[in-house]
Amino acid sequence: MLTPANPVHKYLRMDRIPHIWCSGCGLGTAVNCFVRAVEASGFPLDTISVVSGIGCTGRVAGYLKVDSFHTTHGRAIPFATGLKLANPNLKVIVFSGDGDLFSIGGNHFIHAARRNADITVICINNFTYGMTGGQITPTTPTDAIAATAPYGHIEEPFNLPSLAESTGAVYVARWTSFHVRQLMKSMKEAIQKTGFSFIEIVSPCPTLYGRRNRLGDGLEMMKYYRENSVIKNGADTRELGMVFNGKIICGKFVDRERPSFLDAYNAKMTERLGPSYQPYKGIL
Ligand code: SF4
Repeated sequence: MLTPANPVHKYLRMDRIPHIWCSGCGLGTAVNCFVRAVEASGFPLDTISVVSGIGCTGRVAGYLKVDSFHTTHGRAIPFATGLKLANPNLKVIVFSGDGDLFSIGGNHFIHAARRNADITVICINNFTYGMTGGQITPTTPTDAIAATAPYGHIEEPFNLPSLAESTGAVYVARWTSFHVRQLMKSMKEAIQKTGFSFIEIVSPCPTLYGRRNRLGDGLEMMKYYRENSVIKNGADTRELGMVFNGKIICGKFVDRERPSFLDAYNAKMTERLGPSYQPYKGIL
């Protein structure tokens, strides 16, 4: 009997498989949810573009069979913004990690949200720099152990949903890699949304973060997510900060409307220059 083809294979560059990710890593689950969300969104594949930064999550762009860009460290969002402005017909999705997006890339994140750049940002938050050996990132919880904090981290981490909402994102959600159905739904909504949409995915890095903090293997970390996640759609994002080994509040928190950067630009130019102004539609 013939085995049916795996429905996600057509979205992957199978010549790049096997991937480099560790056993138990949450990245494969996130990619699986993403390709199913893309399929459900109804956008043709030639209108989807994925941009990654550097790190374990940065490899996502290389595995997806769409126009994709594995860019420089922390700069995925400016690449994505430029791509969207050059060709506004594209759906541009940034797929990157907490270290890349919120450390060296933090400045880009807040300004893209403030401008309401019409892109989706998906952050795999595993609380560590995986590819370079497990250093602290801007989301590592206080007291967690890391390569650069062997006696326990002393800083306060970013609360990513609150940061995204307060800087202007029009769609904000957080799920763990255990919540695959909710995550797929959120990804689909975020892709279909006009404006800056943001999804945080709390995801296991058993090799570095999990091992150092005695959280067990990938399966045990997923059990932890199942037992310690609380779904609170519409929760006040100011109350979503995460503490080490604490509860993880998940849900869709923000879904609002405001003009995207390009819509606001064209409206302003029409107001100032009159009906003779031809709205900007890209250069490609
Ligand atoms: Fe995943 Fe961590 Fe391995 Fe990187 S080091 S592939 S984040 S488990």
